Amino acid sequence: MNTIFETPITYLKGVGPKRADILKKELGIQTFADLLTYFPFRYVDKSRIYKIKEVTNDNTWFQLRGTVSNLQSIGAKRVSRITATLTDESGSMELVWFKGLSWVKNRFEAGKVYTIFGKPSVFNNSYNMVHPEVEDYKAGEDDGVGQRLEGIYRTTEQLKSNGLGTRGITKLIRNLLLQIKNNIKETLPEYVLEHYQLIGRSSALLNIHFPGNPKLISAAENRLKFEELLLVQLQLLQQKKLLTEKVRGQVFTKVGDFFNEFYKSHLPFELTNAQKRVIKEIRKDMGSGSQMNRLLQGDVGSGKTLVALMNMLIAMDNGCQACLMAPTEILANQHLQSIARLLGDMDVEIALLTGSTKKAQRKHIHERLKTAQLNILIGTHALIEDEVVFANLGFVVIDEQHRFGVAQRARLWSKSSSPPHVLVMTATPIPRTLAMTVYGNLDISIIDELPPGRKPIKTIHFFDSKRLRVTGFIREQIKSGRQVYIVYPLISESEKLDLKNLMDGFEQLQRDFPSPDYFVSVLHGRMKADDKDYEMKRFVDGKTDIMVSTTVIEVGVDVPNATIMVIENAERFGLSQLHQLRGRVGRGSDQSYCVLMSSFKLSEEGRKRLEIMVQSNDGFEIAEADLKLRGPGDMAGTKQSGMLELKIANLARDGDMIAKTRQLAMRILEKDPDLTNPMNQLLLTQLKQIQQGKQDWGRIS
Ligand code: ADP
Ligand code: MG
Repeated sequence: MNTIFETPITYLKGVGPKRADILKKELGIQTFADLLTYFPFRYVDKSRIYKIKEVTNDNTWFQLRGTVSNLQSIGAKRVSRITATLTDESGSMELVWFKGLSWVKNRFEAGKVYTIFGKPSVFNNSYNMVHPEVEDYKAGEDDGVGQRLEGIYRTTEQLKSNGLGTRGITKLIRNLLLQIKNNIKETLPEYVLEHYQLIGRSSALLNIHFPGNPKLISAAENRLKFEELLLVQLQLLQQKKLLTEKVRGQVFTKVGDFFNEFYKSHLPFELTNAQKRVIKEIRKDMGSGSQMNRLLQGDVGSGKTLVALMNMLIAMDNGCQACLMAPTEILANQHLQSIARLLGDMDVEIALLTGSTKKAQRKHIHERLKTAQLNILIGTHALIEDEVVFANLGFVVIDEQHRFGVAQRARLWSKSSSPPHVLVMTATPIPRTLAMTVYGNLDISIIDELPPGRKPIKTIHFFDSKRLRVTGFIREQIKSGRQVYIVYPLISESEKLDLKNLMDGFEQLQRDFPSPDYFVSVLHGRMKADDKDYEMKRFVDGKTDIMVSTTVIEVGVDVPNATIMVIENAERFGLSQLHQLRGRVGRGSDQSYCVLMSSFKLSEEGRKRLEIMVQSNDGFEIAEADLKLRGPGDMAGTKQSGMLELKIANLARDGDMIAKTRQLAMRILEKDPDLTNPMNQLLLTQLKQIQQGKQDWGRIS
């Protein structure tokens, strides 16, 4: 075993009890292994001096050399910042300091040459550099360059004030490597190294911290990422296998009258090919003898409800009940109505159970559930309450999955003597690579096709100054009988202000669209459930022209006559939320529009988001873009997943490698399911270590 790697960090030269404490508190570093796998987050090239005119702002660091002049203290009573001008033969640039001001004041001698190092940013349309590193330079002296590539480590104020800035950390890691260099053993099988042309572990760990050249950085990263992701995939696939083998499911052997009757005489349209394929995938699972755990992804409007219903009918054909759980009452209600509509006069008993179901009605439902008189129960969280007991629950559908926690899902499991099949439906497309990791232990079905005849929604971005045009456009649409959503952001930190914006907007709209010619209503989360339902129902029934609301309408409601979605302060919404909101229109045969309103001041990222929305209608494409912009940490559903504690791989950027390692893991486990082949000895050892909780080390070592 790698005992030396488990050595407490206090035993390292340069680390006393105080630093050990801070390393633990700030970075979670407790052992040699922890420090060894604390990787630089980027590298700087100090081997070259750049000209000021070569500077770009693509997030890289530059080493510049020039004279420093024009030192200025800015601020009336208290100096708030110091600026200076750096000039070389190609141009000049401003340097800025907000901290350490007294030090800065005495640092420079007018007219002298300095070497400056930092990351440029853009301010007032020109580049500047905030808090650059500064070194003296004497003419004629050796260039001071040639100092190669340096790893830069993330650090904190606490660490810095204890001598553990990036330089300090580098020093510790150098000490560490000197001490343990000869103990670093290979952890990947020879055949894997060879086939994927990966460098050895020892070389990878040396070069990730102290790279010989840029090529070696990528070779080291490549090797370490590959190993990390391979281990993740091996774990996920083993878990998945365990689930399929151990959890016996109810076996639905037949397709019977319920399904057939519906298919022959009630299905109002031709299924799309994607719907057909997914129904087959689910049917196959439900007949396999194992319990199904499947994630159904399909863009808004792709027809997931119908897929769910048809599989519910199969459950019924096999003597079972089914239920559908939605995140809000409005949605549950809408599911009930659309399912009732689809079933028509078929002999299927369905009921709705939500928080506001009256007591007598509730009791009635409970009884009919227990005696199997009810076939399908639709509802909200109310479904998981203890007094809800099924006679024979065989199939559970959960809509809009990221709103329900894993624990809530587990409670539905236990409502049946043998676990029901579970279908989780989500309209937030998850990028393929993320699905392979975050949901790597679920099966995934994708509806990647919309029903025919839908007109793509036209998306337009307007700055607030163009509001009059938007108002005119809305008027036209209402005149031709259409309805309009206007959505305001509601984000908790500034809830009061947001609510005020919403109400101000509502009042303005009432002036622009006066009654009795128009009917404008408002809907937000603070309203009573009854009032919300009332307003929603009016809109669904076409009695309201304009619905002003917060994102309470975000998921699922289906009003085909609504053709305009105006999103106020669109820059404040995330991409997937914008896409969800847009999906509320374009559900009928009329051309629909999504209008993104924003202020003129936009952050770089905000501008990009709006651009992507204007360009693309494809949920998967948007999800990929979202993942790239935000990183995986914020994506729906990823928070619960431990899979994100990756040390080096990046779910947003390493898609190809995720796919590669998943394939390899599948091949390995196919031939050697328990990893008992000596060839896979090293992998088995690592997985065991991970299971024993030596996770941090195991993931990477
Ligand atoms: P999702 O839940 O995936 O957003 P829905 O299930 O609400 O989508 O379906 C959206 C609309 O499309 C509904 O009005 C539904 O009746 C209709 N629909 C579903 N499947 C088809 C199909 N194959 N052809 C035509 N319309 C369909
Ligand atoms: Mg839906």
